[in-house]
Amino acid sequence: MTDAGEVRATREALREEVRRLCARYPSSYWQELDRERAYPSAFVRDLTEGGYLACLVPEEYGGAGLGMAEAALILEEINRSGGNAAACHAQMYTMGTLLRHGSAEQKARWLPGIAAGQLRLQAFAVTEPDAGSDTTRIATFAERRGERYVVNGQKVFISRVAHSDLMLLLARTTPRDEAARKTAGLSAFVVDLREAGDTVRVAPLETMINHDTYEVFFEGLEIPVESRIGEEGRGFEYILSGMNAERILLASESLGDALFFVDRCTKYANERVVFDRPIGRNQGVQFPIARAYVHARAAMAARDDAVRLYDAGEPCGAEANMSKLLASEAAWEAANVAMDVFGGYGMATEFGIERKFREARLYLVAPVANNLVLSYVGQHVLGLPRSF
Ligand SMILES: Cc1cc2nc3c(=O)[nH]c(=O)nc-3n(C[C@H](O)[C@H](O)[C@H](O)COP(=O)(O)OP(=O)(O)OC[C@H]3O[C@@H](n4cnc5c(N)ncnc54)[C@H](O)[C@@H]3O)c2cc1C
Repeated sequence: MTDAGEVRATREALREEVRRLCARYPSSYWQELDRERAYPSAFVRDLTEGGYLACLVPEEYGGAGLGMAEAALILEEINRSGGNAAACHAQMYTMGTLLRHGSAEQKARWLPGIAAGQLRLQAFAVTEPDAGSDTTRIATFAERRGERYVVNGQKVFISRVAHSDLMLLLARTTPRDEAARKTAGLSAFVVDLREAGDTVRVAPLETMINHDTYEVFFEGLEIPVESRIGEEGRGFEYILSGMNAERILLASESLGDALFFVDRCTKYANERVVFDRPIGRNQGVQFPIARAYVHARAAMAARDDAVRLYDAGEPCGAEANMSKLLASEAAWEAANVAMDVFGGYGMATEFGIERKFREARLYLVAPVANNLVLSYVGQHVLGLPRSF
């Protein structure tokens, strides 16, 4: 077999393994969790034990040392099966900031535990009530006092914090109006939530999906200086360097969603008989499914382009952002098609369509709103005037 053929075969084998694991968690499992607003602990435990969430951790720290191509494939398959990778995707990539910018001591301290699944680094705390798209407006402040920082402030939409041991925190260490640039004066920290006591308080935030997200309040949280990543004041840059991975991986979840809807629509349109014929024989039903598939495949080609550049260590900001936009739109288109194809049953919870419909809506606005993606492309790719 050629090298390329071998890589393809290994990836297909990985895809099969993930499919088999996901098959143990059918739609009824996710429906029940959605109803109870519960966390998929058994599913996440299985993924962790299989080493899938450690796929991007280098082998020297006990991870699988695989690339973005494999990570993307894993998340895509989870969502294609009807599951929701958002419950655990951050364990895969949040450690990237530590890997790229942490000291040798920090990596030795945390990465082996993360790779083994004994340490959960699932929470990533950036957004605040007055700072969503404009990260530079965050006001949570980490004040240096000797060998510690003391943190006060509030975050919102901090997902999985109740299922994390560690949290990556972005806080101001210089007030915005005193910083050299608005993006300067922000610092990144690894917070050990197990030691935080009542200086970190969390309150669940109810949303239209089962996403396990929280408001987080810091009241005098102490962080040792050794837990700051890299230099003080350069946290924005460090966080930004992990965004391409996040964009590509979440695009992959959206692609999984799009293909889930196409798979389910195809099956249903072949089976459901109305006016003595399968509804899929009507082009009014068939064409929207076909169009949604074509758009998903186009978004997949864009995602694969971003993956190729990422794994080759080349700049891929434009490709990562564009694939996130295309994939989230493809998923949303397919979700709407499914609601039509299933007729009234699209709304019946037991079919799982309405749950995935709600879940697919998220990635149009988070972790970055698609308007902000367009603004990135307008400004940085096309050279149009800056709007903010
Ligand atoms: C379920 C869920 C989970 C999340 N998990 C996390 C998490 O774990 N950690 C975390 O830090 N954050 C998390 N977030 C927050 C998410 O990253 C933000 O919601 C997102 O960045 C958008 O910010 P915002 O909601 O404050 O919208 P805003 O910034 O208030 O924007 C509102 C709208 O205005 C538009 N807009 C704003 N400015 C412009 C402009 N200049 N041009 C055109 N349009 C503009 C935006 O596109 C958006 O549609 C999560 C959000 C959700 C819903």
